[in-house]
Amino acid sequence: MELKSYKKASEIPKKYLASLVDAEIECWWSRPFDEYKICTNPNCKAIFSIEDIYETVANYINRINDELAKNFKCSCCNSKTELIYEKNKFLEIIKEYIKWEVSRVLLIDDNERVEGFWVLSKTNLSGAINYEFATRPASYDKEELLKSLSKELFWTEDAWEEQISLLHQIYVSHLYRWTWFWKQILNSILEFNWNDNIPILLETRYDSEFYPISKTLWFKNIMNDKYWYTCQYIPKKDYFILANKPTILKEISAKFSFYKKEALEILSLNNSFLTQKFYISN
Ligand SMILES: [Zn+2]
Repeated sequence: MELKSYKKASEIPKKYLASLVDAEIECWWSRPFDEYKICTNPNCKAIFSIEDIYETVANYINRINDELAKNFKCSCCNSKTELIYEKNKFLEIIKEYIKWEVSRVLLIDDNERVEGFWVLSKTNLSGAINYEFATRPASYDKEELLKSLSKELFWTEDAWEEQISLLHQIYVSHLYRWTWFWKQILNSILEFNWNDNIPILLETRYDSEFYPISKTLWFKNIMNDKYWYTCQYIPKKDYFILANKPTILKEISAKFSFYKKEALEILSLNNSFLTQKFYISN
């Protein structure tokens, strides 16, 4: 097992890219993101996770119930379902994406399989709002998000062109979650951004296991989208203190339940986010 850091993600060897796509798929297709299949009925658009269809991610990896998955009908309206992201398209998108200012850390197992990944991209606020945070239909109110981020991070009305770093979802496969990696993950991410000293944004869902961690790391919620994803930020001065804190892992485990409860309380304000999820039309 080892961590491999690529300050320039374009230098990731080809042999890891297909496996990286598998890991990304596992991340986004499983709970709580649930972006595996979508109902083809335009009036329904229910979305389903790997677990909704295969019961467990392990079953999916071992291709148990494949036939069932292929013919899976929407449990709300009985229409056909289709993949939200095709693997080959995903691979092409990643190949293009890493040509930008993107850094990645990969967690590689002894069989050279990617079992975890985390990504930091440098972009500006307009890139984050119009591209990175715009993968779901009609998710954020873009103008409101720009206004709030401009005010919090740059003390101005419109910081459209200001540089930020974007920390994407950190993913560690179910096999290796909750092991020794957290400190290394944190440090490797902060090292990427160290000399740039610009604010970091991230996006996660309230019911993601990453939410209590990012909150303990002093990220603050700024806005929800329509699907109960939340955009968070950390000002540039704070992550210097954070990286040098020897007790950070203890703090994460001590505060985990507190922030998990906080997330569930927020979610309980709209129960539809806790049950079947639907994408809406643009
Ligand atoms: Zn349906």
